[in-house]
Amino acid sequence: MARIGFIGLGNMGLPMVRNLVAAGHDVCAFDTQAPAVAKAVAAGAMAAADLGALVAGAAAVITMLPAGEQVREVYLGRDGIIGRARQGTLLIDSSTIDVETARAVHAAAAAAGFDMLDAPVSGGVAGAEAATLTFMVGGSGTAFAAARPILEKMGKAVIHAGGPGNGQAAKICNNLILGISMIGVCEAFALAERLGLPAQTLFDISSKSSGQCWSMTSYCPVPGPVPTSPANRDYRPGFTAAMMLKDLRLAEAAAESAGATVALGRAAAGLYHKFVGSGHGNLDFSSIIKLSQGNSDGGTEKFLPPSTEN
Ligand code: NAD
Repeated sequence: MARIGFIGLGNMGLPMVRNLVAAGHDVCAFDTQAPAVAKAVAAGAMAAADLGALVAGAAAVITMLPAGEQVREVYLGRDGIIGRARQGTLLIDSSTIDVETARAVHAAAAAAGFDMLDAPVSGGVAGAEAATLTFMVGGSGTAFAAARPILEKMGKAVIHAGGPGNGQAAKICNNLILGISMIGVCEAFALAERLGLPAQTLFDISSKSSGQCWSMTSYCPVPGPVPTSPANRDYRPGFTAAMMLKDLRLAEAAAESAGATVALGRAAAGLYHKFVGSGHGNLDFSSIIKLSQGNSDGGTEKFLPPSTEN
């Protein structure tokens, strides 16, 4: 099995490393946080002292970093991957970042003779743990074919979205839908409560009606109807409100540069901005129901419609 270098051992990266190790890969792991590296070593990976050591013997390098800034630094920085990797190394970035950065890093990799893919994921921490992630992949068909057997060890669906940056485009569009639909579901459950309609009754009806969507049936924002949803554990993430805000901002920026209209996306970003700003960034993103319920730090009046602030 090929040796894989893995950089970014956080909520997502660590379980992904576990699955690669379980599949028989030699994994060499690196993170700026020593405790994260220790957990990867406990999971069967080898610790790399630095990026140079990590890329030295790797057939493929996977990054799972917070945002575009870290991706630029790790790939393009003075001691970055592109300057240190040996020829033939396959580069895969699974972070969720802006399309522009993804395409810039692709171009730098190609200029240095490397095959690169942007391969962001959907499925969250639970999907990373269960190896059931969906990978949406941008880059050449050859690179996709080479990466597929590796990505399949961590996911149930590996989909080629087209050329460089198209994986990120798919991810941003998917999470635009998710951010908007979650707020819609939250508003409906909060309204039902005010109207005296029990949450379970609304769920039983809407989950079989035209209001049905993933935000309701897999991730219901009220406790009860979906026992595995974060609402049943005081909204421990999951996928944090701060991450959702980041993704909605990416969608806004992408829409602006592409000349597209995302009116509801902008509204959703405004609501998440207020919610995160009031100290809820580390809760699961479904906890935004607190706004609709009007019981978050003094009520909904703090959370003005985004059109008044943007
Ligand atoms: P995280 O913050 O838990 O982990 C990121 C890790 O990267 C941290 O351990 C951090 O120390 C490390 N890191 C930061 N800068 C580094 C550097 N320069 N060199 C090496 N390591 C560095 O984040 P996460 O939840 O694992 O998410 C990672 C990516 O996956 C993000 O882009 C996120 O948007 C995306 N994502 C997350 C989820 C989710 O549910 N958490 C779902 C889908 C996609």
